[in-house]
Amino acid sequence: MSAGLRIGQGFDSHGFAAGRELRLGGVLIPGERGLAGHSDGDVLLHAVCDALLGALALGDIGEHFPPGDARWRNADSREFVRHACGLVRQRGWRLANLDATLILDTPRLGPHREAIRQSLAALLDSPLDRISLKAKTPEGLGLPDTAIAQVVVLLEAAAAE
Ligand SMILES: [Zn+2]
Repeated sequence: MSAGLRIGQGFDSHGFAAGRELRLGGVLIPGERGLAGHSDGDVLLHAVCDALLGALALGDIGEHFPPGDARWRNADSREFVRHACGLVRQRGWRLANLDATLILDTPRLGPHREAIRQSLAALLDSPLDRISLKAKTPEGLGLPDTAIAQVVVLLEAAAAE
């Protein structure tokens, strides 16, 4: 087997909605409007999941967890990422690093950034220094009520120490 690398990228967007809790990267951000969606609307975890599945060329989150399926209604999106991580391990890969960008107007992510990084590191069973999270505001995009996440992951062959 060739010592290998795999890259994957994920993108997701959700609109903000009343009456929902805001979860980003598996972290509950209290007192903020949440994101619409069939599951808990965690835009960052959905992009993480798609990046992992993309690196494995195993489709996307909608194929693994169909949004029409009642089982995933208000689902904890950490489940989706755990599933994708299981596939990564099963296929002989492990995470080399992850780089994420969250694009949203409010809330400001500064106070939450470290908690979100730690949540991602725990979920992905990765050292913290392999997990990057950047935040941007959607300048000029005209999307004040939308949260966008972009994620890139690099996987390395698990046997290659
Ligand atoms: Zn989503």
